[in-house]
Amino acid sequence: MRIDSLSILRCPYCGGRLNLVDSLFHRVSDDEIHDGILGCHCCIFPVVDGIPVLHLQPPATAARDHVQAGRPELARRVMFGLEDGVLSEAFDAVAASPASTYRDIVEALGPTFEGGYFLYRFSDPTYVVAQAVVRATAAAVLGGTRRAIDLCGGSGHVTRSLLGLSSPPPVLADLYFAKVWLARRFTAPGCEPVCVDGNAPLPFARGAFGLAMCTDAFMFIWTKRQFVGEMARLIDGQQIPGAVLIGHAHNERVWSPSHGNPLTPEAYADLFETLEPRLFAEAGLFQDVIGGGPLDLSRHDGADALDRDPALTIIATRHPGVFAPHTLPPLAPALGEFRVNPLYAIDHGGDGAGGDHARLRLRFPSDDYEQEYGACRQYLPDEVMVARSALDALPAAGADGPLADLARRRIVLDLPKRYY
Ligand SMILES: [Zn+2]
Repeated sequence: MRIDSLSILRCPYCGGRLNLVDSLFHRVSDDEIHDGILGCHCCIFPVVDGIPVLHLQPPATAARDHVQAGRPELARRVMFGLEDGVLSEAFDAVAASPASTYRDIVEALGPTFEGGYFLYRFSDPTYVVAQAVVRATAAAVLGGTRRAIDLCGGSGHVTRSLLGLSSPPPVLADLYFAKVWLARRFTAPGCEPVCVDGNAPLPFARGAFGLAMCTDAFMFIWTKRQFVGEMARLIDGQQIPGAVLIGHAHNERVWSPSHGNPLTPEAYADLFETLEPRLFAEAGLFQDVIGGGPLDLSRHDGADALDRDPALTIIATRHPGVFAPHTLPPLAPALGEFRVNPLYAIDHGGDGAGGDHARLRLRFPSDDYEQEYGACRQYLPDEVMVARSALDALPAAGADGPLADLARRRIVLDLPKRYY
């Protein structure tokens, strides 16, 4: 972690500032804390492999004991949930290799790690909406200088869409160490990862952020009123208004896979005490995005549209630039590299393929995936013939010529380097 990030961290329990405890084991360089112990007025927390773990759940306290005893490598194993000797040695070897991909590391974490669908995240319908809404809102409120936080952001896929929108890097907060560790290395390089418990007060200073956001996770938070109050606190007291954004919150009135503990639209609105929220039915936002834009956040969705949509986007802000139509950004040079969407299998021979063309076929990793994300068929074709010369140009730093059309159709994606 960057040492200057201590200025925005606060103990979740006493609210006190956190500082490195110099008298206990630590490894630091000029501007980074690699391992060590942070202390406040009431307790101490470990920094494990550069990630502050600011909660007191069992792995965190075990990791803290290991760091205090000068065993940072054992602290990391505990945080990865790998205490079995053979598994953890195999994992350490995969993690240590610079050639390992995101997929390799997810596989090395074993079947208990909830990672199966993350590989396909960059083209799923939920992501397509979240990315557009987050980028539009962040570009409006951050002004290039204010910081954003992605709460319960998992392995950082949506955090990635915040990169480059402000000079202080986005903070990625999640309960699971393995996810934020993967994000820092692959999905959102340069982000500041922090382990937090979303059901506790959030360990950050009042007004530290211009945007506090959470996508596809809010229905799994039990302490929803506290969480929204905390999001409002994180953007409170700044001269230019910030924004609270909750994306893909399931609707209690419509069943959906991984339903969680959702609320009705009016119950979500009631959670906001100090800011007036605006609720959007995601079907309308989805049509805006797959239609090529603009993304119209000036719309007022009525109760009928909200009631029948499986998922809602909620934005609360007094910033005048947010509730407006937003042009979708044009194709840009790759943040990572353009590669074939991992949902496509490449068939080099067979029926009609061969010669100077290859056939790409859409295939889902499971029936469950298809049930949950099948709406991607509205923009991803079942089959497409692609010139071999276009495939040979991949991985590519930019999507020019024939790649531009494939990238616009999400058949080719700007993926993190060493993703799969
Ligand atoms: Zn404290």
